[in-house]
Amino acid sequence: MARKKIIAGNWKMNMTPSQAVKLVEELAPLVKNDDVDVVYCVPAIDIVPVVEAVKGSNVQVGAENMYFEESGAYTGEISAAMLVDAGVKYVIIGHSERRDYFKEDDALLNKKVKKAIEAGLVPILCCGESLEQREMGVTMDWIRFQIKSDLVGVSADQVKDIVIAYEPIWAIGTGKTATTEQAEEVCKGIRECIAEMYDQATADAVRIQYGGSVNAGNAAELFAQPNIDGGLVGGASLKADFGKIVCY
Ligand code: PEP
Repeated sequence: MARKKIIAGNWKMNMTPSQAVKLVEELAPLVKNDDVDVVYCVPAIDIVPVVEAVKGSNVQVGAENMYFEESGAYTGEISAAMLVDAGVKYVIIGHSERRDYFKEDDALLNKKVKKAIEAGLVPILCCGESLEQREMGVTMDWIRFQIKSDLVGVSADQVKDIVIAYEPIWAIGTGKTATTEQAEEVCKGIRECIAEMYDQATADAVRIQYGGSVNAGNAAELFAQPNIDGGLVGGASLKADFGKIVCY
């Protein structure tokens, strides 16, 4: 069965609640494409107004992070249950900015992935190598390590429904996109890794996005690759360009 493409915007730390609603309204006529799952991953404070603003449209809402504990004394954190109750469907886990600036390691990310799934959220699990790792020739070793560590204890049935985003760190927010060949090679490698860990049917079901300076000009070629099932889009998701990416 063909995998449905999924194109998600990662707003990062941009858009106040009122700006968020305005952006959703501006993008609404531009992002209509029933062949694609369209997701806005928004800052926590924007979740409630954005869920309201996308009601009745083809857009679903994602969070940019969550904590794995059920509830309690974790000042500043947001639980999976809170996201579900607010109408969130997806949650980005392990974005390189969280791994780097907030020191999130794979053991923590594994707990987050499992909690998200248990709560009924779809994790968008990010992985990707640094420029140094690419130049050293260890890209696939590193990504296999991330995927294997982050999916410890996750069953084949659960993995089928998650989304994996391959995001080379050197391509995020830099305007430097991986070549189509580089992006396809790693997404294919991720699928092979899932097939080894589980089985071919699971690997064939899981959706793998590319992220890293995706824009209106390069989206169509990237998304045409056999192992690239859409994109995770940062900068361009805050502009009308996102409509062109969704309707690539
Ligand atoms: C991202 O934030 O996940 C990302 C890919 O950003 P950009 O598209 O701006 O490179």
